[in-house]
Amino acid sequence: AKQQGSNNYQFYSFSRDISSYKKFLLEKDMRRAIVNEEFELYYQPQVEAATGKIKGAEALIRWNHRDWGMVPPNEFIPLAEENHLIHHISDWVIRKTCAQLWRWRETGYPVIPISINLSPIRLLKRGLVELVEGQLALYRIPASMLEIEITESSLLKNEIGVLKTLEELRKLGIKIAIDDFGTGYASLNYLHEFEADIIKIDQIFIQNITSANKKDAAIVSAVMHLAKEIGMQIVAEGVEEKAQYEFLKERNCDLIQGYYFSKPVPLPVFEELLHDGYLI
Ligand code: C2E
Ligand code: CA
Ligand code: CA
Ligand code: CA
Repeated sequence: AKQQGSNNYQFYSFSRDISSYKKFLLEKDMRRAIVNEEFELYYQPQVEAATGKIKGAEALIRWNHRDWGMVPPNEFIPLAEENHLIHHISDWVIRKTCAQLWRWRETGYPVIPISINLSPIRLLKRGLVELVEGQLALYRIPASMLEIEITESSLLKNEIGVLKTLEELRKLGIKIAIDDFGTGYASLNYLHEFEADIIKIDQIFIQNITSANKKDAAIVSAVMHLAKEIGMQIVAEGVEEKAQYEFLKERNCDLIQGYYFSKPVPLPVFEELLHDGYLI
C-alpha cells in the first residue's frame, strides 16, 4: 500500500485495505474458478445415533485457490451472492453431486442421500427445478438421494418465491432440510407455512446441552419432541463431544453430524469411511 507521503498512516485502514483487496481478487478469480476446477466438495458424514452407521452426508464446498489456499465458504459464498456467480456455483454443486451419486452406484459403494446447500438467490432464479429434474434423470438417481438444505434465516428474504420453488422440488421427491434451525426469527412459522422433511438443529444449541445450565438441553429436547410429533427427521449439527452424542442418543435423535464423528473430508477420505460404513 502506498503511504502518499503522509505520516498519519493507520493500522486500521491498512487491515481494511488488505481485506477489501482480497475481496477484489477473490471476486475476479471466482469467474474462472469453475473452469479451472478449483472448487471441490468435501463430505461430512451424518451418523445414525443409535448405531454409528453412516446414513447420509452433507456436501460442503471448498475453494482451493492458487494463491490463498483453501478459502472457506463463509468468505466467498456471500461474495458470489453479490456478484451473481452463486448461480454458476450452485449449478456446479448440483451437477457434481448427481454425478458423484451415479459414480458411487456404478462402483458399488453404498448409495446414501447427500444434502447440498442452496442459496435462496438460486432458488429465486428460473430453471432450478428443471436442472435438478434433468440431472436426476440423466444419472437415473432416485430423488430421495438428494436433499436440499436451506438456512432458516434465508427463508425470510423472499418467502413466496423461495417457498414455491421448495415445494416444486419436494414434489419431485427431494427432501428439504431447514438448516441452522432455531437461529432465525420465525422458526415455528416456517414449520407452519410449508412442508419440510428435516430439521437441522444449529450447533449453537448443541454446544451447551451438557452444561450445568439446563436451558439449551431443554430447548434441544423440546425441538426433538416437536420434530417427532410432526413427523420430521432431526439432525443435530456441531456435535463435538462424546457427552453431547450420548445426550442426543438417549433422546432418540435421528442423525448426528459433527467433529466428534468426522470433520468434512475430501472425496477419497470420505469413500474410505463409506466403505467401512460405521463410525463407532
Ligand atoms: P452450514 O451449512 O451450517 O454447514 C455446517 C458448517 O459447520 C460447516 O462449515 C462445517 O464444516 C461446520 N461443522 C461441522 N461439524 C462441526 C463441529 O462439530 N464443530 C464446528 N465448530 N463446526 C462444525 P463450512 O464447511 O466452513 O461451511 C460454512 C457454511 O458455508 C455452511 O454452513 C453453508 O452455509 C455454507 N456453504 C458450504 N457449502 C456451500 C455450498 O455448496 N453452497 C452454499 N450456498 N453454501 C455453502
Ligand atoms: Ca448446511
Ligand atoms: Ca447448519
Ligand atoms: Ca450455518
